[in-house]
Amino acid sequence: MAQQTPLVLRLLASSTTLAGKAGKIIKDVMKGGDLGIIEKGSGKNDLQTEADRSAQRCIVASLVKLFPDVTIIGEEGPVHETDEVPSDWIVTDLDAGVLASDCPDEYVETDPKDIVVWVDPLDGTSEYAQGLLDHVTVLIGLAIKGKPVGGVIHQPYHNYKVEPDSKGRTLWGLVGLGVGGFIPKTPPTNKFIITTTRMHADELVDRALEALKPDEIIRVGGAGHKVLTLLEGKAHAYVFASKGCKKWDTCAPEGLLRALGGKLTDIHGREYDYSADVEYPNAQGVFATSRHVDHDALINRIPKELKDKFPR
Ligand code: AMP
Ligand code: MG
Ligand code: MG
Repeated sequence: MAQQTPLVLRLLASSTTLAGKAGKIIKDVMKGGDLGIIEKGSGKNDLQTEADRSAQRCIVASLVKLFPDVTIIGEEGPVHETDEVPSDWIVTDLDAGVLASDCPDEYVETDPKDIVVWVDPLDGTSEYAQGLLDHVTVLIGLAIKGKPVGGVIHQPYHNYKVEPDSKGRTLWGLVGLGVGGFIPKTPPTNKFIITTTRMHADELVDRALEALKPDEIIRVGGAGHKVLTLLEGKAHAYVFASKGCKKWDTCAPEGLLRALGGKLTDIHGREYDYSADVEYPNAQGVFATSRHVDHDALINRIPKELKDKFPR
């Protein structure tokens, strides 16, 4: 049965299971007490912990084993044959709920060579290290011919203050199929709310926010968590006038947003390309909205001289 299921659906089903397993590994590292923090050295607040490394090995080694013809790009680099990957980290189970869904016609015959899976094994590492655990997500995004069409956002510590033993939650989406694992909500109509970075603000990030004149700004860690904020109707837009986010930060969140009719572009309103050979940084910033918001009208409110700071 499983082998007859279209590749795209099997990939999404595998990603759903794997994101949960990665979340368990992230929690085990935290329980162990030694986060093994390394500064990645590519800017301020750019950390890597043992949880990032281990979750990456679990996801990438499993995907490579199950889908050898698909390109997998993970934030923490490739997994080599010499890397130690415990056997119980190679997870080949496919999520039954996703597998039972109807694959949209346009993806039934997708060539594996046209697919890139972008993996952020732990998004919100600074917040993880600071104990702001509900900001943490595991992101696995599926791009076909350069377009993000779906993916998984797993939130291992969802609601952990109320339910300390909770397994978290796993949200998935595919354009043409819809979403699962949560109930999307509409943002309020009586005020305008923007979500943005808490650790990576600078003068340009602040100027873009000022130009948009929000009633409220929600500062949370991680691209995954910020898009969750949009999907749950707690904010209207996610705005980040900075080149700090990478393709693995935005592929899965953009896939889920698009599955619900939302948009994620650069601050000029142009879509990013997620093909295998692109540069990793989203060098023209991030501007995301749910389908309840006029994306282009909001982008028009950002002054040209600020946009010009982010040339292509
Ligand atoms: P934030 O919104 O600051 O939580 O960032 C979202 C994602 O982009 C996280 O994975 C961050 O690590 C990454 N990111 C954003 N800005 C930077 C930066 N200046 N240097 C390194 N990573 C960044
Ligand atoms: Mg990230
Ligand atoms: Mg990360």
